[in-house]
Amino acid sequence: MSSGKDFTSTKKTPTGKKNANCSFCGKSYRDVGPLVEGPSDVYICGECIDLCSSILDQERRRRGDPKKLFNKIPTPREIVEHLDRYVIGQTRTKRGLAVAVHNHYKRLSLVEEGGANGDVEVEKSNILLVGPTGSGKTLMAKTLAKFLQVPFAIGDATTLTEAGYVGEDVENLLLKLLHASEFDVVVAQRGIIFIDEIDKIGKTGHNVSITRDVSGEGVQQSLLKMLEGTVSNVPPQGGRKHPEQQYIQIDTTNILFICGGTFVGLEEIIAKRMGRKMIGFGHEIVDESERRRNMLEHVTVEDVIEYGMIPELVGRLPFLSSLNKLNEADLVRVLTEPRNALVKQYQKLFEMEHAELEFTESALREIARIAKIKDTGARGLRSVIEEVMFDLMFELPEQEPGQRFIVTPEIVRKEQALFVKDAAAA
Ligand code: ADP
Repeated sequence: MSSGKDFTSTKKTPTGKKNANCSFCGKSYRDVGPLVEGPSDVYICGECIDLCSSILDQERRRRGDPKKLFNKIPTPREIVEHLDRYVIGQTRTKRGLAVAVHNHYKRLSLVEEGGANGDVEVEKSNILLVGPTGSGKTLMAKTLAKFLQVPFAIGDATTLTEAGYVGEDVENLLLKLLHASEFDVVVAQRGIIFIDEIDKIGKTGHNVSITRDVSGEGVQQSLLKMLEGTVSNVPPQGGRKHPEQQYIQIDTTNILFICGGTFVGLEEIIAKRMGRKMIGFGHEIVDESERRRNMLEHVTVEDVIEYGMIPELVGRLPFLSSLNKLNEADLVRVLTEPRNALVKQYQKLFEMEHAELEFTESALREIARIAKIKDTGARGLRSVIEEVMFDLMFELPEQEPGQRFIVTPEIVRKEQALFVKDAAAA
């Protein structure tokens, strides 16, 4: 902070005054460090300066010309193209999500531009993603937020509790978003919050497995309000900038909520509903797992309610889409294709040690096969490949540079030593 015009002095420590206190928070300079001295024995400490500065910033932003959200809102196609770089498969959901998100930010920028006369009302278009573990729900939400350059926060519905109980309260999700936006409230209010395991909250009977009172009325109510749009008081929780624990008000109206859940057993509900229709479709024999895999595509709001989600919650998540379970071929693609694919990451590490790394096609399939058995989708890939690479990574820095290492299925299965070098190389 530059020295203000009204200050007669900006001495860092009050000289001569042994017991000077901050005139704002009353704390002694011994507790809060150097004070800035103003006229007539007025002092202010660093913490209060920070607090004032953030209050003024907020006020300026509120009054002034707010930063424009986007120069140009990406089109659904551009959004899908970006998602394609990181997320394998899930084409239908990517397209739907892209349209929903595009529309959300379009409405939002309309409001920001014409908001003064209030003639455009933003309709919330929160999103519910249904799909097995490790199919890309979180990845999609995260990738979207990054592409749109909006702050992003992740929470887990099962850890949400009513304020005062052990666990996270709903406002904490907003606090995470505030952190992600470096305490810029205006920016936080345009962010994206991903809430995982939403299927575990507010269940009305089906497969209830949680013992603690996470689905208590209080949590549900505050979650519902937040999804719909409310002004929440968020405690900064000992944040350095807000020593007085003053609440920060966040309006959730324009925050995009993406909720995800695995909805184990939902296929059966869909199958039951579609039972008759399914028999009507031709007579080709479809692999049972493939049939289940595709069953989620037909999910409707009614199925989700039948599953046990409370209608009020589903009603606040108007865009519903499902993700497919990734099959072995998809998992091989996950290993190699995304920008930050695991294989590419390892190859980079090898490159840094002046070595080359290759996986044969069948080795990749073997890794995918082992990961598939774990039934945790693409999540399982990391641990499998890490185990394969573990010894090699340990030895690598001591290897002669310029070598080429080829990972084969035998190496993946640990039937062969890892140091099988390509004799022709180097
Ligand atoms: P969930 O569906 O359980 O939210 P995540 O999105 O968290 O799964 O996926 C876990 C990890 O698995 C991600 O970090 C990513 O590396 C990988 N992954 C999952 N699905 C995909 C996918 N469709 N394409 C590429 N990577 C994926």
